[in-house]
Amino acid sequence: MAHELPPLPYPYDALEPHIDEATLHVHHDKHHAAYVNNLNAALEKHPALFSKSLEDLLRDLGSVPEDIRTAVRRNGGQTYNHTMYWQVMGPKAGGPPKGAIADAINKAFGDFDTFKTKFSQAATGQFGSGWAWLLRDREGTLAIEATANEGCPLMERKWPLLVIDVWEHAYYLKYQNRRPDYVQAWWNLVNWDEVNRRFK
Ligand code: MN
Repeated sequence: MAHELPPLPYPYDALEPHIDEATLHVHHDKHHAAYVNNLNAALEKHPALFSKSLEDLLRDLGSVPEDIRTAVRRNGGQTYNHTMYWQVMGPKAGGPPKGAIADAINKAFGDFDTFKTKFSQAATGQFGSGWAWLLRDREGTLAIEATANEGCPLMERKWPLLVIDVWEHAYYLKYQNRRPDYVQAWWNLVNWDEVNRRFK
C-alpha cells in the first residue's frame, strides 16, 4: 500500500496566532505532500517494500536497496517527521506537561523550565534545516537532540517523543529570520497528551 498524506489533525487556522494558516497550507499541502509522493515514487522501484511500515523502513535503512536508500531516507524521514510534528501540536495546548512525561522530564532535566531552555537552545542552535527532539535513547534515558535535514531518531533506533520543525519553511512566512520567536511561540502549541501517549 502506498504511503498516504494524513490530513492535518485540526483546521488550518487552529494554531493561530502562533503558526499562521498560510504557513500550514503550504507546509502540509505542498511540502509534506511532496515528501510522501517522492517516498512512494522511490518505493515503486521495489514494490515489495510497500508492505513495510514507515517506522520499520527508517529503523532498518540498511536493508533498503542501495539504489533507493537515499531517497527513502530523505523522503521517508521527512514524511515521518512531519506527521509527528502535526500530532504533537494542537489548539488550546501548551503550558507545562502533565502525567508521566512531566515526572520523567523533571527527573531527567531538573524541572520543566530547564528542559524548555535546553530544548529551545537545540532548536534555535541547529545550523540550517533540521529538527529538535525530545527522545528516549537506546538506554531508555530521556535526551534532547537536534538532527539536520531529514534526520529522525528512528534511524538510530531511538524513540521520538516530541519534535519541532526548524526548517525555514515552517516559520518563514510569519517570522522570517526570527527562528527564536517561532520556537518561543511554539511552546503554546505542545500537545502533551500526544507526548504522553508516545512515552507509554
Ligand atoms: Mn517542514
